[in-house]
Amino acid sequence: MTKCTICHHREHAAIDLAIARGVSVLALSRRYKVSTDSIYRHKKAHLPPTLRAKLIAGPDLDIDLDKLRETESQSLLANLVALRHRLFASLDTAEECGDGTMISRLAAQLHNNLEITGKLLGDLGIGSTATINNVLVMPAYVEMRVELVKALEPFPEARQAVAAVLRGIEHKAADAIKADKREFAS
Ligand SMILES: [Zn+2]
Repeated sequence: MTKCTICHHREHAAIDLAIARGVSVLALSRRYKVSTDSIYRHKKAHLPPTLRAKLIAGPDLDIDLDKLRETESQSLLANLVALRHRLFASLDTAEECGDGTMISRLAAQLHNNLEITGKLLGDLGIGSTATINNVLVMPAYVEMRVELVKALEPFPEARQAVAAVLRGIEHKAADAIKADKREFAS
C-alpha cells in the first residue's frame, strides 16, 4: 500500500477544506502541485461526505438567535445569513485556488442571496437608517411599480423615462440595504 500524498501534504488541511467547498480537482492539482489522481484517490478514500459536510459547516455562526427565532421569516433570514457566510468562505477558497468556474458560480449564488436577504430585511423592517430603502423592497412597492409601468404603456417615452428613474433609485437602495445587512449580520 502506497502512502497518500494528500494526507502527508504540508497543507493537507487547506486541501481538504477546498475539496469540501467544491474546488475542482484540476485547480487543486495546479495550486498544490499534486497529481489529479492522488486527489481523486484521497477524496474517495479519506474524505467521506460526512467529513466534507462537517468541514463546510465550520464553526458556529455568531447570530443573535433569540432575536431571529421570533418568526419564521426571521429564521429564514438566519439561514440566508448562514448560507452567505459559507458562500463567502467558499469564494475565498475558490479565489485562493484560482478556480474561475467556481468563482462565477459562487458570485451568482451570492448575488441571489443578497437580493433575497435584502427583500426579506425590507419586509421585516430591519435596517432603520433609511425608511425609504425599506419602502422600495416592500411587496406593495413592487406591485405599485408594476402597475405604474403598465399604465404608461401607451406612452413609451414616458414609460422609459420613469423606468430609468426607478432603476436608479432601486440601485441606490440595494446598495444601502447591503450595507445595513452587513452591519446586522456581523
Ligand atoms: Zn489521503
